[in-house]
Amino acid sequence: MRQRKNIWRMAALLTAAVSAANLCLTEAKAMPVTEENILALLDEYDPDGAYILRESFSRRENVLGWFEKENDILADIDTAVHEETHRYTFRSHSLKQEDIYIGGQQHICVKYTNVFDSTEMSGEIPEELRTSRFDTYIGSPEQNLASNIDGIYGLLNEFNAYSWGMNTTVSLYDCYWSAAESPLDWDGYILQSCNDRQAYGDFNYYILKYLLYAQKHHPDIYRDIIANESFREAYQITEGRYRALIAKWEQQTAEIMERCHIEKASAYLFDDQYRRLINEISKPEYRAVYRLLCGTDMPDMRGTVQESDNAAEAANDSILMTANNVKTYNTITNDKDTDGGQDWWRSLLIIGGIVAGAVIFVLILTAIDNTWTDKMNSRTCK
Ligand SMILES: [Zn+2]
Repeated sequence: MRQRKNIWRMAALLTAAVSAANLCLTEAKAMPVTEENILALLDEYDPDGAYILRESFSRRENVLGWFEKENDILADIDTAVHEETHRYTFRSHSLKQEDIYIGGQQHICVKYTNVFDSTEMSGEIPEELRTSRFDTYIGSPEQNLASNIDGIYGLLNEFNAYSWGMNTTVSLYDCYWSAAESPLDWDGYILQSCNDRQAYGDFNYYILKYLLYAQKHHPDIYRDIIANESFREAYQITEGRYRALIAKWEQQTAEIMERCHIEKASAYLFDDQYRRLINEISKPEYRAVYRLLCGTDMPDMRGTVQESDNAAEAANDSILMTANNVKTYNTITNDKDTDGGQDWWRSLLIIGGIVAGAVIFVLILTAIDNTWTDKMNSRTCK
């Protein structure tokens, strides 16, 4: 009987392995929010997000507290990674420094120098550049908010946290495709990623503006920040990675728009605000500060900014795709069959092959087992 039990145990393990391989792809949207499921999903798609959250789980932080829905990991995974990146950054805050995560399980320890509150520069931020984040982080921040009291270091902290949140959403792109049952299922992806792209504009502008303000009003503080090698390195790496992420997002969004027939105004939320910020930091004074920090010219991002046909609609932060520009799930599936359908059929054939192989494998083992049992039964003792 021991031999027969082992056969069925092997068959069960094989079946479980096949199921696990498909879990992330087909049921991510409905997976219960547990530590195990979150890490399994991120291990599959986003190793950096997995590393950040695993660090927090290992310290028994309340990571699950960021998830509002019991069975929808995708809905809040971006927020969880963003917030836990803050937790990671603050690990050595009491030593007047912060750990800026740069990917690959590495961080840069950024030493603080003297700062002034970010809110001090709010009077120099023109009305047309005051986005929805202005009051929260700069204009009238809560007491002890890092983006205010830690000055430019708090702004870098926020810049970095938004970049890792966006990295998670962009990394989960294939997962969104497999989980989408209708174009409405792209709401989460579009809202999160557009929000994160907007944050690139906001915080890159705040950081560069902070330096311009310091240059004029606090020359000592300005000099120390510019001389802070750890800050310069962390900013350069974070900004470059964030910018590359936005370029990748542009490609993904173009594909979603094409396949789902989503209109530009619906796919590019906050576009008008974002364009104004990119145009602002493209001015010579910001480019000069950027050159001081990075040692290179600021890449021109104006080419990647989509012109909006309808600024009011593009700036509207209410959701998203309306009934007249959505397609049914079947239509999307047909689109995927046309464009990337070969991948889908290849996956089906592989899974079918594995299952058929497993059945044949079990049948062979059962036959061997019966032969072996017959032999054992035919033995006699003297
Ligand atoms: Zn934050």
